[in-house]
Amino acid sequence: MKKIDLIEASLKEIEDIVVEKLNLKKYVAKQIFDFVHNKLEFDFNNYTNIKKEVREKLNDYFYFPQLKCVNILESEDKETKKFLFSLDNKMLIETVLLLHNNRKTLCVSSQVGCPLKCDFCATGTMKFEKNLSASEIVMQFYYAQKELMKNGERISNLVYMGMGEPFLNYNSVMKSINILNYEKGQNISKRNFTISTSGLIKEIKQLARDEKQLHLAISLHSTKQEVRDIIMPINKRYDLENLKEALLEYQKITNNRVTFEYILIDELNIDKSSAMSLIAYLKPFNAHVNLIPYNEVAGKPYNTPSSKKMKEFYNMLKTANVNVTLRETKGQDIKAACGQLKVKKEKELNEKNN
Ligand code: SAH
Ligand code: SF4
Repeated sequence: MKKIDLIEASLKEIEDIVVEKLNLKKYVAKQIFDFVHNKLEFDFNNYTNIKKEVREKLNDYFYFPQLKCVNILESEDKETKKFLFSLDNKMLIETVLLLHNNRKTLCVSSQVGCPLKCDFCATGTMKFEKNLSASEIVMQFYYAQKELMKNGERISNLVYMGMGEPFLNYNSVMKSINILNYEKGQNISKRNFTISTSGLIKEIKQLARDEKQLHLAISLHSTKQEVRDIIMPINKRYDLENLKEALLEYQKITNNRVTFEYILIDELNIDKSSAMSLIAYLKPFNAHVNLIPYNEVAGKPYNTPSSKKMKEFYNMLKTANVNVTLRETKGQDIKAACGQLKVKKEKELNEKNN
């Protein structure tokens, strides 16, 4: 019999095995479900209120995805914590926990590497290896949640802004959200999830139909066709006009505000004409713009602008009544931008091996 991934199994599927294969009462399935999704316990030996003979048999029917934490880095200000996980076949992914204001936001990966290869992005330099399963996404959450629970704290928000393009792994991403939203499990409100995309048109429209409560963030970074073409190759497939049309449809169907992420890169996208172009692009939207200082990636020809220049860009938007925030740089000392820790770790491992 094929074993079942216990993170992805519904209560009904667990009940079927418990009753039909293990000849036990239905309530045992609830106990198992509670160990997995509330106590976050993934070693059957610790399922102490279940009989030992039963616990031993659980391995015959169920398994957990093997996510092993191989490195944790904490920023000096203690506000950013980065986890590096290895998957069972040794691939590496990153998860970042951001603790600021009174929010505890977890940033999860959705793929190993990313095939979209944005020119400024550390993840884009990696070989794309695979889509993560829903349970591999959920496990990143459970690992970080378990750490926080030791201090009586909990994750409040979840963003799909780690490694990978979530819309290239649409089904698993949605499944992971539904697992974490399930009322008998973590019960995280759909309003507290944000999916960030580089602009996949079909999936933006799909999301408008499937899930109206989730937040959508668009990685825009330039509203000049020729600039976006260079930094985000996806723009050649779905250009800024296609993107606008899809987002207007999304806005019309969901009535949601759209967040635009705009990385500030020196001498590329922060001059006056870039600001004017951005302001014009945003006109038909109920938008929020998040300005993010570029996190420099070794070997890339892009630089973080001075604080003064970033502030000037911010002020140009503010003056035009754009709803805008300038994000503080977080966790630069631990390379918190997506993919950066994995690149560093692999370099270290290579140096060790040579
Ligand atoms: N693939 C999705 C989600 C993951 S990337 C997307 O592109 O939206 C999450 C965000 O981090 C994106 O806005 C991306 O542009 C940004 N990002 C990538 N590399 C960065 C860097 N070096 N510095 C700052 N932001 C970066
Ligand atoms: Fe992929 Fe997002 Fe990085 Fe672009 S920014 S390469 S879409 S992870």
